[in-house]
Amino acid sequence: MPTTVKGLPVSGGIVVGRVLVIDDSMRRVVRRAIAADEVKRELARLDAALKASIARIQALHEQAEKDMGKEAAKIFTFHIGMLKDPALLSQIRGMIERDRVTAEYAAMQVLERLASMFRQHKDPVFATKVNDIDDLTDRLLSELAGAEAGANRAAGADADTIIVARDLTPSQTAGFDRSRILGFATDLGGMTSHTAIIAKALEIPAVVGCQTLLATVQDGDLVVLDGDRGLITLHPDATMLEQVSRAIEQRRTQQAALVEMRDLPSVTTDGVAVHLMGNIELPEEVSRVLAAGGEGIGLYRTEYLYLTGSDEPNEGVHYRAYKRCVQLAAGKELVIRTMDLGADKYTQAQEEIPERNPFLGCRSIRYCLKNKGMFKKQLRAILRASADGPIKVMFPLISTIAELRQAKFLVNDVMEELEEEGLPFDRSIRMGMMVEVPSAAIQADTFARECDFFSIGTNDLVQYTLAVDRINERVANLYNPMHPAVIRLIRDVARAARRHRIPVSNCGEASGDLEFAMLLVGLDVTTLSVSASSIPKLKRFIRSISKEQCERVARETLKLDSDVQVAAFLRDRARRMAPACFDDVERE
Ligand code: PEP
Ligand code: MG
Repeated sequence: MPTTVKGLPVSGGIVVGRVLVIDDSMRRVVRRAIAADEVKRELARLDAALKASIARIQALHEQAEKDMGKEAAKIFTFHIGMLKDPALLSQIRGMIERDRVTAEYAAMQVLERLASMFRQHKDPVFATKVNDIDDLTDRLLSELAGAEAGANRAAGADADTIIVARDLTPSQTAGFDRSRILGFATDLGGMTSHTAIIAKALEIPAVVGCQTLLATVQDGDLVVLDGDRGLITLHPDATMLEQVSRAIEQRRTQQAALVEMRDLPSVTTDGVAVHLMGNIELPEEVSRVLAAGGEGIGLYRTEYLYLTGSDEPNEGVHYRAYKRCVQLAAGKELVIRTMDLGADKYTQAQEEIPERNPFLGCRSIRYCLKNKGMFKKQLRAILRASADGPIKVMFPLISTIAELRQAKFLVNDVMEELEEEGLPFDRSIRMGMMVEVPSAAIQADTFARECDFFSIGTNDLVQYTLAVDRINERVANLYNPMHPAVIRLIRDVARAARRHRIPVSNCGEASGDLEFAMLLVGLDVTTLSVSASSIPKLKRFIRSISKEQCERVARETLKLDSDVQVAAFLRDRARRMAPACFDDVERE
């Protein structure tokens, strides 16, 4: 009997393959005492393992640079730096000599101690490194074991393999041989984990946060992984396999047809332009957005500079990333969002963050305003890059007017500094804010007077309005942008923007959903920022509907009482308005 496990769809595509389990329990190492005359041998084993690990990481680094660009590949610089760190190595060597333990045991003890120190560190930049240290521990232990463990197991994968793991590290993911590994699913991880980002950047179909998958599969099981919908189906029967192969073929044809949309304008049938922009995490993605037909970048999530780098990025690192984006955007609009660190942006280490309620804690703009030195470094880099092409700066998670004022004040402060230093920048740089907290939406009129644009972030707006954790599978059924309360907030924000003549966009995931996009356009939110892969289908849809129809739909929607009603209504209207755009979706 086929059974389906649901997870989070982090990287699109449907694949059918055989399971290969990577279980990190392989990492457990027992303490084994060694004789005095074995110490030398253990030290030599350690040196050989270090050398081999460095060589492998070096190779991965070079490959990752080619595949994903310099920013993403920086993860590996950190790994190499750690393996060469004299203080760390002398601790491991010291333990082998003093305590007479195996190289495996000493390496694991020392690295785990380090990981636990990082975990407790107040600075989130350190906390994000825990996963990297785990990655390194795996690597070193598997070299020492000289056998198949973790990544090595994946290296021996057969053709048409789907990896299933409790969790995967970024370097494991980046090291997958794409000719044999079709996709992966993990029990842990959120939409914004390092691993999810790498999967998207490499376009490997992936589902994370499956919770119970590892307990239900075995090596060799046949599975269907649907990265578009976040589904893993175990033991598919012949009927299902037939359906899946039709769906794969259909997807392929659709993708090909959609590519033709690229150069066509994104306008409704009654001639209203709906601007389709891209959301990116890494500078290299700018090209993908433009190739998919995007008009520019509506959201650059700059915190990935922290999540992929080895240390806190200095001004030069920021500047080079922004300049690269400006170059790739070639005159197109580029909205750089200042760092949104915290809450779910701590990769897999999020549970370890010493805040009881990190989503309501010191995240995002709050964190930046508390760490002004760090924040100003970023602002300086953004402003310097603004001399090279059009940039807008956007502040996330604004919940009080004081925060917006303080952030703008710091930008002006930095402008003065740059002026004194004789460095060029765009003096009239536009400064906008994300509306992703109900207080900002309710007070949109006040905020609209003091900023140049709004971008609604429904990912967070939904969780804060409905009190539903956006990454918690257990309440996923309650997380719905179609809730009337959310829709009313969006309506009010759009009205305030209109009244004060400032542009408003939506950059949450919901903009990529055709039915929700129809509603947004009807509410007068006519700039949508989505992931590159969503742009073509959205453009085809926009070109099939009229603004007037969308407005009518929005008016009717606002009369409805529940998310269930809204969902059913939008589903029906969207299909009536543009049936061809939904041919692919009905294959449950
Ligand atoms: C949002 O909250 O909608 C948003 C776009 O920001 P992020 O997903 O990065 O929190
Ligand atoms: Mg957000």
